[in-house]
Amino acid sequence: MSISDIGTGSHILIIPYPAQGHILPLLDLTHQLATRNILITILITPKNLPTLTPLLSTHPTTITTLILPLPPHPSIPHGIENVKDLPLGGFKAMMLTLGDLYNPLLNWFHNHSNPPIAIVSDFFLGWTHRLACELGVRRYAFSPSGVFALSVIFSLWRYMPKRVDETNESEVVKFCNVPNEPEYPYWQLSPIYRVYVEGDQESEFIRDGFLADIESWGIVINSFTELERVYIDYLKVEVGHDRVFVVGPLLPPEGDVSGRGGPTSNDVLSWLDKSGSEKVVYVCFGSQTVLTNKQMGVVANALQKSGVKFVWSVKEPTVGHDAADYGRVPTGFEERVAGRGIVVRGWVPQVAILSHDSVGVFLTHCGWNSIMEAVAAEVLMLTWPMSADQFSNATLLQELKVGIKVWEGANSVPDSDELAELFRKSVSEETRLERERVKELGKAAKEAVGEKGSSVGELDRLVANLSH
Ligand code: UDP
Repeated sequence: MSISDIGTGSHILIIPYPAQGHILPLLDLTHQLATRNILITILITPKNLPTLTPLLSTHPTTITTLILPLPPHPSIPHGIENVKDLPLGGFKAMMLTLGDLYNPLLNWFHNHSNPPIAIVSDFFLGWTHRLACELGVRRYAFSPSGVFALSVIFSLWRYMPKRVDETNESEVVKFCNVPNEPEYPYWQLSPIYRVYVEGDQESEFIRDGFLADIESWGIVINSFTELERVYIDYLKVEVGHDRVFVVGPLLPPEGDVSGRGGPTSNDVLSWLDKSGSEKVVYVCFGSQTVLTNKQMGVVANALQKSGVKFVWSVKEPTVGHDAADYGRVPTGFEERVAGRGIVVRGWVPQVAILSHDSVGVFLTHCGWNSIMEAVAAEVLMLTWPMSADQFSNATLLQELKVGIKVWEGANSVPDSDELAELFRKSVSEETRLERERVKELGKAAKEAVGEKGSSVGELDRLVANLSH
């Protein structure tokens, strides 16, 4: 059987959650499914349609769109519902409001001449499992988080650990059932979990969504077997079946690498072309995190003092930030480091930057996509987790010995001398062992998505499962 025979034209519905870190890997999965002869409808809101352009032009006959307006919600001001503008703290509101698409979708299924036989949807859309049950089709939850982080998330919502002292943000919560028994101070747990109130309708909707993820027919995860084997084995036991498909690293198709996620300037790539091998430090805190001015000052100082070459991707304040307090590059900084480093404001072509030969180190907020991209590109990571699953991701990197801890938390600031020293050390011989280790992992990642690789096998297993 050739790859193109596997899907045998089955029709499925894909539903992304509209944030960059969620939608990009799911679109990469969609591409993989489309190349395996699956017919796909993607549900998208009008403002997010442009994000699909590269995918739709690659698969004009196999992928179609179902465009439904975003239901209104008081916390999401009209007109800013696209993936780039998701307001600060808007994740929960977006989860809630998308739940109102239940009935429009039910109608769409009932009126379709060849309705989908399965739904693959982001794990923030657990209600789609309830919908799938009503329709008598299968739902597969897509996790843009890794297996370890997902294990912690599931454990949190399933067992609902409580603090002894309700006012103590530092009280440690231990996840005894997860391998290696990870533990975190309360403030590092998911912000959505921390605002849960028993009996409150919205809170119960969110909890039900995660429980529905656990109950779903299958789970698809952007990771690879060689990276998280022990946690994959655990998760299969925890959900009670082996329909856990670990299919990563999900990366953009070759032609879409430098334009991925939106228009970017190629200046940064030309600048890197002129820099020496593996010595450039890339600094980026993902698509959502905007540093406070104080944090900006510390990072700038440290970069200046360290003497390293660098690319610093700076995100500007969005809705919910007080523009005066966030994202300001210190005056004169760029002149002081001219020739040695550049600051890029706005969106950068991250996958292309990480894959560039000149880049050897990445100061990251530990978003899972950033980690998968860095591992695939064999780039050592300096870790500064800020929120959500990022603390778990940082733990995993330390466990794998490919991450060096810099700092933790969105509201505090490291010491600039210590950060400068870490920058200097990161490109020196002192981190040779960590860099060798990340090279090994990178090779394993390439093998996983190469011919006969574990993730290719998992994708084929998923497609066969989807088609039955
Ligand atoms: N990204 C990018 N350019 C940017 C910022 C982010 O291409 O300027 C991409 C990055 O490569 C990754 C995604 O956006 O694929 C961010 O996801 P991640 O899970 O790392 O962090 P999040 O933004 O969800 O916190």
